Amino acid sequence: MKQISTSRRNFLHASAATTAVFGAEKSLLANETRNASANGGKPRNVIFMVSDGMNHGALSLAHLYRQRLEGGDTVWNRLYQERPVVRALVETSSHSSCVTDSAAAASAWGCGQRINNGVINVLPDGSTPQVLHEKLQKAGRKTGLVSTATITHATPAGFAANVPSRGQEKDIAVQYLERKVDLLLGGGRKFFDDDLLKKYQAAGYQTVENRKELLAGKGTGPLLGTFSTGHMPFEIDRKRVPKLDNEVPTLAEMSRVALSRLEAAKEGFFLMIEGARIDHAGHANDAAASIHDQLAFDDAIGVAVAYIDKHPDTLLIITTDHGCGGIQMNGVKAKPDEEFGPGSYSASNAYFDRLAQFTRSFEWMKQNGLNGLSGDKLADALEKYTQLKLTPEQTKLAQGLKGGAGVAVGEHTGVTWTSQNHTGELVEFCALGPGSNQFPAFMQNRDAHGILLASLGIAV
Ligand SMILES: [Zn+2]
Repeated sequence: MKQISTSRRNFLHASAATTAVFGAEKSLLANETRNASANGGKPRNVIFMVSDGMNHGALSLAHLYRQRLEGGDTVWNRLYQERPVVRALVETSSHSSCVTDSAAAASAWGCGQRINNGVINVLPDGSTPQVLHEKLQKAGRKTGLVSTATITHATPAGFAANVPSRGQEKDIAVQYLERKVDLLLGGGRKFFDDDLLKKYQAAGYQTVENRKELLAGKGTGPLLGTFSTGHMPFEIDRKRVPKLDNEVPTLAEMSRVALSRLEAAKEGFFLMIEGARIDHAGHANDAAASIHDQLAFDDAIGVAVAYIDKHPDTLLIITTDHGCGGIQMNGVKAKPDEEFGPGSYSASNAYFDRLAQFTRSFEWMKQNGLNGLSGDKLADALEKYTQLKLTPEQTKLAQGLKGGAGVAVGEHTGVTWTSQNHTGELVEFCALGPGSNQFPAFMQNRDAHGILLASLGIAV
């Protein structure tokens, strides 16, 4: 009882202080942000950044990792501290479920309507609305799509394609060409066979297949870059495996090339940049993979911010389509009966910092044979890539490197998950630059479509 009354007193004290500090002044401050001169007017260009499957927990873990283990802060968080950023919470429900998938979520941005999960811009009545790329193209804008997933995956496709099923990635690859999407960079080479590649080249596209070719490429014409057969590797693996580091560009590098190409667009451009694999790390319950991909996404934000600083006629949006896995850093007690007080959760820092010892994703471990191991062999192999000493029970749980691996590892790091599925929470949205003052503080994901077009002066 004593504890309850103390925390209640603290709560009352805190809320009185909060009212004093944030009462009237906070809303004024919010209006100042929204009314900042940089946030009014009409943008020429739009950079739309998506950290796929990122709940606030994933954002927080990347922030903690940078702060504790690398020094400094994420670019995303610094924007909130240093720039007049307009923020919103976004509801992400689809037509078919309160928990969306990436297809329905990207389609909400792509066509401004709620549709069924699994579908790309086909309405429940079977009709196919015009999509954002087509509307922008009519208005003279160029469009670029950049992703660390297959470039034909649900999120990029949601901006430019209409197909009844997100699995129709070959059809999406054909639609991109038919609709002349100006720039495509990502994974998914398997969906572009030789015949289709020739058609792209005949239509004037430069095609590139590795980091060197991408970075050497100059020019302003249409560009197709596919850097892996399927999804691009997780950043935690990409940067440590020399072959991957040689061949596969980072999201920041793809973003830089995309911006330098599209800059020449006479009437401006729309560039979508997706950190796609935060979602996949969520499905795999792989905390280290999530953090490193979120930080790679943050590096790409840095590229975008440098661009808007030079080109203040560009609207920057940074958001996510939904949460995935419910990742969270939990307070860790040094002993079960640890009391609340200055020493509370005293093991948390040391547990969290163990994530710095991880050198590979679960996916890479699987691809390299660890999913066939059990017992001591698996424990030794996992120790090699995580420095963790799993107990026999934890090793059994990790066998096959499925969801149980996330649970076993979580007992050493304090990071746990609510599921291996998408989550239905409200998500973060922020905007900076001309047109950003048009986004309300609370909206549905589909609202962004119309607001964006209206800010560009294009008919919805
Ligand atoms: Zn997902």
